[in-house]
Amino acid sequence: MSDSNHNPSYIDTHCHVDLFPSPQRIVEAAEAERIHTIAVTNAPSVFHFTQSITKSCLYVRPALGLHPELVRTHGNELGRFVELLPQTRFVGEVGLDFVTADHEDRKRQLHVFETILARCADAGDKVLTIHSRRASADVIDAIGPSFPCVAILHWFSGPLRDLIRAAGAGLYFSVNPAMTKSIQGRKLITAMPQERILTETDAPFVKLDGRPAQPQDVSVVVTYFAALWKCTPEEARSRVHQNFARALGDFPGATR
Ligand code: MN
Repeated sequence: MSDSNHNPSYIDTHCHVDLFPSPQRIVEAAEAERIHTIAVTNAPSVFHFTQSITKSCLYVRPALGLHPELVRTHGNELGRFVELLPQTRFVGEVGLDFVTADHEDRKRQLHVFETILARCADAGDKVLTIHSRRASADVIDAIGPSFPCVAILHWFSGPLRDLIRAAGAGLYFSVNPAMTKSIQGRKLITAMPQERILTETDAPFVKLDGRPAQPQDVSVVVTYFAALWKCTPEEARSRVHQNFARALGDFPGATR
């Protein structure tokens, strides 16, 4: 039975479960509350840990990642990334971070990201959660207009023109509590097509009332959407859930 019309779940498409002091507790809480969670990882060498603690989960999915800021130190794990890719449908955290002005570092990041995109395109059914800080135009260019997988721009903070281009290319946006609290974040959220919006926490990096966020805190974002969209929180939650179901194509159990 599809749960897209009944009891819509909360969705957290970007949570670093493995960076909490007690990852198992975060996983158990997300499962108990039926929060569809993409548990991103930052390097292939740590994927196995998250894979092992989510093995029996219905709602928490392990994602294979190679964070752009770690390419300098972990770029040699790209081969391992390619080997592990068949083990999961979910990919992240990957992308580009051009806070660095170092030309060689940017070049290496681009090589890693383009390789990952190409291998995902070969597989065809992947769901990617993508970092694009100070690199949104380059990320959108790399993904291209006919990428066959689901690409979610996580914590998008680029210029409005890139947001419009990303929307035109069929990309999704995942919004976290920190974005709803900044003027620039709010401007961008207003410009995102409603049918492309998902929710995330980027926990434990995003903080709420001085403590690390956790998957349940996507409720903050849903409440914000309800005010913006002039609907009830339940309706906003349902729309986000429907977007996730549409993005994944098949829902929920079969897709894991
Ligand atoms: Mn992250």
